[in-house]
Amino acid sequence: MTQYDVDLFVIGGGSGGVRAGRIAAGHGARVAVAEEYRYGGTCVIRGCVPKKLLVYASEYAHGFQDAAGFGWSVGDTSFDWARLIANKDKEIGRLERIYRGLFENAGAKTYDGRARLVDAHTVEVAGQQITAGTILIATGGTPVKPEIPGAELMITSNEAFHLPEQPKRVVVLGGGYIAVEFAGIFNGLGSQVSLVYRGEQILRGFDDDVRNHLAAEIVKSGIDLRVKTDIVKLEQATDGSLLLHLGDGSSIACDAVMAATGRKPNTQGLGLEAVGVALDADGAVQVDAWSQSSVKHIYAVGDVTNRINLTPVAIREGHAFADTVFGNRPRQADHADVPSAVFSQPPVGSVGLTEAQARQRYSAVDIYRTSFKPMRHTLSGRDERILMKLVVDAASDRVLGAHMVGPEAGEIIQGIAIAIKAKATKADFDATVGIHPTAAEEFVTLREKVKA
Ligand SMILES: Cc1cc2nc3c(=O)[nH]c(=O)nc-3n(C[C@H](O)[C@H](O)[C@H](O)COP(=O)(O)OP(=O)(O)OC[C@H]3O[C@@H](n4cnc5c(N)ncnc54)[C@H](O)[C@@H]3O)c2cc1C
Repeated sequence: MTQYDVDLFVIGGGSGGVRAGRIAAGHGARVAVAEEYRYGGTCVIRGCVPKKLLVYASEYAHGFQDAAGFGWSVGDTSFDWARLIANKDKEIGRLERIYRGLFENAGAKTYDGRARLVDAHTVEVAGQQITAGTILIATGGTPVKPEIPGAELMITSNEAFHLPEQPKRVVVLGGGYIAVEFAGIFNGLGSQVSLVYRGEQILRGFDDDVRNHLAAEIVKSGIDLRVKTDIVKLEQATDGSLLLHLGDGSSIACDAVMAATGRKPNTQGLGLEAVGVALDADGAVQVDAWSQSSVKHIYAVGDVTNRINLTPVAIREGHAFADTVFGNRPRQADHADVPSAVFSQPPVGSVGLTEAQARQRYSAVDIYRTSFKPMRHTLSGRDERILMKLVVDAASDRVLGAHMVGPEAGEIIQGIAIAIKAKATKADFDATVGIHPTAAEEFVTLREKVKA
């Protein structure tokens, strides 16, 4: 039998790679990992975690305004971008050390540097060549910018977390969750924000009622939302400000343009094609339900496979891979009914099928929906409404999808996701006693079908 330096080499120390390497080491495998940037990966360093910290920061603006209706007089407020970024960086540094430690404590060897395959069993990193019985590609993805003149002047989410100053006027390009979240962050922190998207409506893939409701809410919150809008070119004036030219001949003057127009899998220059690993047209590693690539001992998990690009999914895929290959416990990551949130303002939570998906798959679908003013805003006076919606299979009474726009939507939908995973029926929802007074109780008191 061939003797390799290690049993498993993990390329990428992000959500999926860390979990896979740590679990494999726990099963007794000799593990090495390479990370070219910072341990923790996109989610911890420049994704979910810092993003949520910035969302928290930006939510204070509403809090100060809403306090008056409850009798408070809030004095002059001011916001210090540099202090927020410094505090955020301190926390991210702490988390990064924890993630690196997870590997090292599990007995894995860490390499700092960009890795690539030199042959099907050999990884080159930091001037060394290491042979491995199994290789896991967990290299994640990278933001892409639109191909227009002046694109080099744009920032992406990567840079947005480290801007030396808060831009006073920002244009965010894109309609996905990252675009919508950053528009809310900058808006809450006091920047003037335009959200420009060439599609019909923001949040493609989410339920249409959610998309329309959120679009109306973010317009109310002061964001200049422009859908069905093409961009033509970006120019810089001598004073450093930017001018974004749009397809309709108009332009927007601003201090920063953030492209949140998509991400591509990190497979370039890894040497994958040369050893026979099949990639799809977008450059994602093609894998089966076991996360196994077209080369038997090379696996891939997380965003580099472009399945469901969320941290908990990458973690599940990495864990299932490690249990299967090194733990003698074959299992696949389950991609059904994955809940997700958009940390917009107000936020979105969603699990299961949208109404449109349900209508395609089931012959009769019942829709339960409500929209109401949150109790807090009876006194605050804020004009913001909650949306809640259940999508039900009429034949079996099973709840196929639950969707919400409103405060704590992510927290609420996480609980509802358990019910949906357990195949709860609408009758089960109705039999559940509400917690009063909450917004969440509306999910168990939706009595009237609005559509069949
Ligand atoms: C702005 C933003 C916000 C997000 N918010 C959320 C959220 O709220 N909730 C959620 O679930 N998901 C969120 N995501 C998505 C989430 O970050 C990803 O799904 C998750 O990080 C994927 O994990 P991964 O292990 O596949 O890749 P990553 O976490 O991207 O890790 C890949 C790692 O591989 C390293 N690497 C790449 N190439 C090489 C190489 N050749 N050699 C060595 N190292 C290499 C990279 O430096 C990186 O650290 C967000 C993403 C972004 C960009």
